[in-house]
Amino acid sequence: MALSKERKTIVEWSTTQLLAQLQRLGVRTGGVLLVHTSFRAVAPTEEGPLGLIRALRAALGPTGTLVMPTMTSGETVFDPKSTPTDGMGITAELFWRQPGVRRSTHPGGSFAAEGPLAALICRPQPLSPPHGVDSPVGHVHDMDGQVLLLGVTHSENTTLHLAEAIARVPYSVSHPCVVESDGAAHTVMIAETDHCCTGFRRLDTWLRERGLQAEGKVGNADARLCNARDVVAVAVAHLASDPLIFLCAAGAGCEECDAARDSVASLWQADEKASSLK
Ligand SMILES: [Zn+2]
Repeated sequence: MALSKERKTIVEWSTTQLLAQLQRLGVRTGGVLLVHTSFRAVAPTEEGPLGLIRALRAALGPTGTLVMPTMTSGETVFDPKSTPTDGMGITAELFWRQPGVRRSTHPGGSFAAEGPLAALICRPQPLSPPHGVDSPVGHVHDMDGQVLLLGVTHSENTTLHLAEAIARVPYSVSHPCVVESDGAAHTVMIAETDHCCTGFRRLDTWLRERGLQAEGKVGNADARLCNARDVVAVAVAHLASDPLIFLCAAGAGCEECDAARDSVASLWQADEKASSLK
């Protein structure tokens, strides 16, 4: 009895089953799909993470483009052909290493893409902000792509940083990143709208109440699917009424959000100085 129960729980999800789940959720054939994944939540699958990637490719078809974040620590000079991802999960790490997959060149905020629009999505971008309108997430948004969260929440949804950039939120924190110029390694500070990102989870409520988020299972994982344009439009509308809505409350003990809050005053002072010089 105990043995059969144990066997049941270790049955692998076949690629065909994963494909059916992705289609049921609403992944568009021929579309652009940006995927954030915790493989541990999806597993076990036939062929492991490669089986999941195969299912995602099959759901998109040959005219679709698959995109994943391949961000790096910024502690060494970034080489898109060799630098491992940092905290992006095994699926993304394996994805960029597959033949025919492109990887963008941002030294900290790179993405990988495969499909007809991969080169456009991975084209060179400014250092800051890493996830602005002229970045891979910006291009996925322009291309009316979908965002799929597999076993992760909106905290991992990079498209929300695009919404912050479009809304011009008043916080910005700089992090060191090693870049190469003139054949030598230099450390530059890259400004981004950084915080703990727990506040991004508000999107569940905002999207659900508007019927803009499909939810279901992919493998064993809770999956959320939404349009990048809906994510940005809904977030920008909320940011317009409260620009700090994604930050933890002051005094809540969140160091990252406190740093973002501290940056607001200094950015405003810099703005005032700039306008008084005009
Ligand atoms: Zn926080």
